[in-house]
Amino acid sequence: MITPMTSSEQVPFPASDATTPIARLREIVEKFVQERSWEPFHTPKNLVMALAVEAAELMEHFQWLTPEQGEAVARNPEQREAVADEMADVFCYLLALSSRLGIDLTTAVLRKMEKNVQKYPAEIYRGYFGPDDPRWPGPASSSASQ
Ligand SMILES: [Mg+2]
Repeated sequence: MITPMTSSEQVPFPASDATTPIARLREIVEKFVQERSWEPFHTPKNLVMALAVEAAELMEHFQWLTPEQGEAVARNPEQREAVADEMADVFCYLLALSSRLGIDLTTAVLRKMEKNVQKYPAEIYRGYFGPDDPRWPGPASSSASQ
């Protein structure tokens, strides 16, 4: 059973994606917001904007880097931690938005991936990013957002 953290509890370590339900992360974020009475600020519009800001902060760490320098970020402890912090910010706002809108993220991801499987058949898209790929051998189609 998942129990909410009290204000005196620390974030439980060690934990990992493999052992932590999304519901537990949602509870941690909800409790953080509740303890600060930030619910009035967490409107869907504000959460979406905050998420976009955090995504931009994440992008800043890769702006102007070569592809090789971008790959090297994961091997630099300081850069890796800074990127992880921004990824967490993005995910926390996504969790808060999903709570606010009552959208189950697991269901949303599974439904969207099923749509993606239908939209991007592997036998056609394997090795190509899509119709704009100069090497594209597949059928012409309208640009599709992912
Ligand atoms: Mg940030």
